[in-house]
This record gives sequence, C-alpha cells and structure tokens, in this order.
Amino acid sequence: MTAYVPPMDLDEFRQAGHDLIDWIADYWERLEDLPVLSQVAPGDIRASLPASPPEAGEPWADIMADVDSLILPGVTHWQSPNFFAYFPANASPPSVLGELLSAGLGVQGMLWATSPACTELETHMLDWMIELCGLPDRFLSTGPGGGTIQDSASSGALVAILSARERVAGQWRMPELVAYTSEHAHSSLEKGVRIAGLFAEQIRVIPSDENHAMDPVKLREAMVADIVEDRRPFFVQATTGTTSTTALDPIEAIADVCKDFGAWLHVDGAFAGSAAVAPEYRFVNAGLQRADSYSFNPHKWLLTNFDCSLFYIADRGPMISALSVLPEYLRNEATEKGAVIDYRDWQISLGRRFRALKLWFVIRTHGAEGLANFVRSHVDMAQDFAERIGNHPSYEIVAPNPLSLVTFRHIGGDAENERIRDTINASGDAYLTHTKINDQVVLRVSIGSQHTEQRHVDAMYGLLDTLA
Ligand SMILES: *Cc1c(COP(=O)(O)O)cnc(C)c1O
Repeated sequence: MTAYVPPMDLDEFRQAGHDLIDWIADYWERLEDLPVLSQVAPGDIRASLPASPPEAGEPWADIMADVDSLILPGVTHWQSPNFFAYFPANASPPSVLGELLSAGLGVQGMLWATSPACTELETHMLDWMIELCGLPDRFLSTGPGGGTIQDSASSGALVAILSARERVAGQWRMPELVAYTSEHAHSSLEKGVRIAGLFAEQIRVIPSDENHAMDPVKLREAMVADIVEDRRPFFVQATTGTTSTTALDPIEAIADVCKDFGAWLHVDGAFAGSAAVAPEYRFVNAGLQRADSYSFNPHKWLLTNFDCSLFYIADRGPMISALSVLPEYLRNEATEKGAVIDYRDWQISLGRRFRALKLWFVIRTHGAEGLANFVRSHVDMAQDFAERIGNHPSYEIVAPNPLSLVTFRHIGGDAENERIRDTINASGDAYLTHTKINDQVVLRVSIGSQHTEQRHVDAMYGLLDTLA
C-alpha cells in the first residue's frame, strides 16, 4: 500500500495563501513601474526552466521565488494602468476572491444535481445582469430563453451557430447553408462556422458603411443572390462594438433582413456590452430585443477576471436539442423530471466551473452604481483623450469613438504609425496596438484597466506628442 503524504498541510496552506494574497496586492501596487509589454524573446522563458520535473517535492518558498525571477519577466501586465492595447481584460479584488473560492470549493457544475448552488446562482446572476444592463426581457430564464456563463464569446458564437443549424435541421441541407457577418466582425464567427461543419465558402463577408458598421442593404443583396442560387441564409452575426473601432452594427435593420429570410440573428457585444451598466450608454444595445442570441464579456470591461462571458438566448429549445446527450451515468431524478437547468446542455464541454461566484462578488461589492461609474470613468477619459488627439496637428481621428476606445493615426503614413507604436511598446512605459482601416495602419488606445487614472492617460498623450 502506498500512502500519499500531502506536501502542504493545512497550516502551511493558510500561511502560503495569506502570503499569496499579499503578493497579489503588492503586485497591483507596483504595476505602474513594471514594463507593460514583456520584453523577452521567443524561447527565453522555457530556456530558464529545468528540462525535467523535480524527482522530490520542493519547498513552497522556492516555487514563489521562481515566480518572481522566472515568470514575471515573461508576463505582459494586462492589469497595468498603462495598458492601452486590444481591449481590457480587467480584474478586481472581489473577482479574484471569487475565483479563489471557486477553486477551493472545487465544484463541478455540469448538472443541477452535481451542485445546485452552482446552477441556481448562475441563473440568478444572468437574470440580474438583464436588469443591470437593461437587456431585453426575452432573455430572462423565467421565459423560454435564458442565459449562461461561457468561457468566451467565441464559444457563445459557436453555440449560437449550432442552435441556428438545429433550427433548420430537416428542412435545409448543410451544404446549402450560408452565414453572414461584416468585414469588421470578430474572427470567432469564421472559426465557429468551420467547427460547426460548414466550409469557409459558406460565409459571406458584408461590406460596411462609412462608419465601419455592417450595411443592411448589402446584407439583403447578398441573401437575395444566395437564394437565387438555391442557398439558404441561416445565420447572421452582427456586432455591437467591433474589435477594430467599436463600430455599432444597426441591429434593428439587420433584424428586419433576418426576419424576411428566416435567418438566426446573433449579436456579439463582447466588449461594448458592458457599457450598458450605465443607462446613458444603452444605445450600444439598440434593437437587441430582435436578436435570437447575444453575448458580452464581463471578463473584458466589467471587473471580472477571465473567464466570464455571458451568453443569452431567446428560445433555448434548438440549443438544447443540438447539445443535449444523456448517457446512463448522468441520469438523475431532477433532470428526468425537467425541473431544473443542466448547463452542460448550454455549452460544448460537459464540465464547468463555479464562475457565477466571482460575478456575484463583483456585483454585490460594487452595486449598480459602482459598476456604472467604473465604465463612465473610462469613457470620460477616452472622450477627453480623443478631443486632444483630434486637435493635435500630427494626428487625426479615423472613426467614431463612442466609448472608451480611441482610433487615430499619425498623418505621416503607415511607417510613421508603426514607428510610434513600436517605440512606445519597446520603452515599457505603455502598451498600445494597431488595426487596419481602409488598408491603413491605425493606432488604438483602449482605456479600461482597473488602475488607470487620468494621469496615466495624460502620460500616454505625452508619449504620442513627443514622438509626433
Ligand atoms: C474580444 C472579442 C471577441 C472574442 O472574445 P473571447 O471571449 O476572447 O472569445 C469577440 N468579439 C468581439 C467584438 C471582441 O471584441
């Protein structure tokens, strides 16, 4: 008989845990001084690690020392107040504590029966978010629809595609199906369509208007052209807040087209959806009551660390018939009676974590008012920054900036913009990324870290001014 001796007893765990929370708080405190973008070269981190795992267990203190010396240099500091790249992936103290509690409970929430609180708190949080963000009632769990937490908006898009495919199963054949999206939509649509068993040729990329939003007239034309060829428009993904410029596709007009052709409408609000916690920004969701499904990511802009992507559906029927398989070993009374939600039927994988805890902690500690003020602070800073950059003789604003992302370019051309971006990123003082609009390199300053204050945005402006 081999006896397992845990290397860390509960007293040691208490101590290490307290120290780790201190480590995180210290890290957040000194973030400002760390180079934002990791400056290591490919392979550097692996080369610093032992080639083989240790034969005997090692002291905890040695492991944490290696976190400081080996891991941190290879970390890009997403929580840095000087992080202006991509979109934020912000965290907050209550969300980190929720994550820790979820790990400690170690619950597997695949079925209601495997931990009722895991399912019911999630259902309740998704309904709370409807009230917090003014989302359509048709997504409430008390009706035929409902919401769940996915690992990512990409998974949400895939579930939407599979549900749309299921809705037309038996009427239309797979090779006839066509999905539509805009040229500025996220790549997750193409990936989802391919995973769902369609070919890339079954996707139509609809041109956008002068504001980079999907043009519904072009969408209708594309569908008509497909119908003429005996193809079936089955799915449209619209975006509220595109990744390039936070352009807002006209949901209402797109929904009219979808209705005429019987296509499913999925709305991707991954980033911008969080803005709706402040009532004055609910314009981002105009027309959403016409959507079949919707997703947005509190793990981007709502203080809840990755992963926490909310997925809502107006009629859960096709989703459950697409994703439910009930083997003998999962049979249980609550499921058989149909009295409960089993979230395994709402996602790709079977297993799932207790992610609702961190959302619950975030909502309760901030309140609706605290969450609204958080996004307001970023939008205010971004609008002020946009005004200053727009007035700068060497820069021009290139697209509407309705929220906390500012897109602009140096008037000197692509090489000049790349030089400015690379110089700032190599300095470690701040981190920004680019996109391409009308084939031109455009700089993006995205404001959304939990720690970003006006002085950090001022410093970013100062860097751009100096390099202009
Ligand atoms: C970030 C983003 C996504 C992808 O989100 P994941 O949760 O990482 O899959 C999808 N759509 C838009 C518009 C995004 O900005």
